[in-house]
Amino acid sequence: GLPMSSPASSTRSSAGRAAAERIRVCVRKRPLSRAEEKRGEADVVAVRNGESVRVHEQKEAVDLTQYVLQHEFYFDEVFSEACTNEDVYEKTAYPLIQHIFNGGKATCFAYGQTGAGKTHTMLGSSPRRPGLYALAARDIFARLAQAEQRPGPSPGPGPLSVRVSFFEIYCGQLYDLLDHRKRLFAREDGQRMVQIAGLREVGVESVASLLEVISRGSRERSRGASGVNCDSSRSHALLQIHLRACTHRLVGRISFVDLAGSERACDTRDPDRQSRMEGAEINQSLLALKECIRALDQELSHTPFRQSKLTQVLKDSFIGNSKTCMIANISPSHLATEHTLNTLRYADRVKELKKGGKSSHSHGGRGVKRWPPHPPNATNTSAGG
Ligand code: ADP
Ligand code: MG
Repeated sequence: GLPMSSPASSTRSSAGRAAAERIRVCVRKRPLSRAEEKRGEADVVAVRNGESVRVHEQKEAVDLTQYVLQHEFYFDEVFSEACTNEDVYEKTAYPLIQHIFNGGKATCFAYGQTGAGKTHTMLGSSPRRPGLYALAARDIFARLAQAEQRPGPSPGPGPLSVRVSFFEIYCGQLYDLLDHRKRLFAREDGQRMVQIAGLREVGVESVASLLEVISRGSRERSRGASGVNCDSSRSHALLQIHLRACTHRLVGRISFVDLAGSERACDTRDPDRQSRMEGAEINQSLLALKECIRALDQELSHTPFRQSKLTQVLKDSFIGNSKTCMIANISPSHLATEHTLNTLRYADRVKELKKGGKSSHSHGGRGVKRWPPHPPNATNTSAGG
């Protein structure tokens, strides 16, 4: 059988801490690609101690001399380019799987610029290098098998079934990736729960069949809607794994969200009208997402779910017995510095709102240092180069 991913004993305390938190914000840096190396792109991102990340921003003064601004950020976890998907899984989704077996809702977001590694993290780059979807699937079925080996009177909901749905949000509209991209509509029911009418939920009985369904949906996603100028960077993909009792009652659920490219939120001034609309929609949904996660942490009475389709369909991820993990993906390249800083600032604002925890003693979460310490000027020739 497949090995169950579980944290090594050395990291159990950190996994224990993760289990107690409602919101975790993590950063993952990907390596420079071979092509980027060949083009001579520089790695301007340094990860330290698994908890901080520093970005060296090359700036040019008015007199054209160069100087560097250093930006430092602290997070719950920071994964360097040496980390594997297994390393990331252990400290992000793994505690969420524990949570859904205890009857909770969980959500794991991959945020970041296009090309920063969101899909590599979620889906993996090949069947031999699985991503979080597959690692979670293994854990879920391993737990179910364990439960079956211990039959007898239990206070739990009895045997559980695993069901999966996979859909995409593009320009505020829902498309079923497991049903030929059928257009779907979300409605609030009498209990003010949001339901997606007609969303296909496929029952799966093994890791292999779950992965088969995921790859079917992923192929549908990469194909794009015919006639629409749509690629995966412009849409959010939501994979949901539901645990149901034999009565079909929902026991727990984990949602994996591969978000649209965060750089698209800047397209609001694009000369092309369609891109402008998409950009505005993505911008709105990422802002609403930040607000909704914030409400989860502060237990606010009002959560602005309705401000975007993304947050509306994830409504039950932001209320009640819910946990959230965000993985902010960043590129190391100096050409991506601006987007990298935007991503880190966004993640920092999600985290900043947290009460207590590691973040509170991190000098406001972000430090900016100038190097050289004083801006070079025309008379300071020693700083030139
Ligand atoms: P995104 O989904 O954010 O647009 P991708 O996941 O498609 O980005 O990543 C872009 C490219 O970088 C892909 O070729 C992917 O395989 C590679 N890549 C991303 N993250 C890593 C990583 N941690 N290690 C190795 N390659 C990576
Ligand atoms: Mg992608």
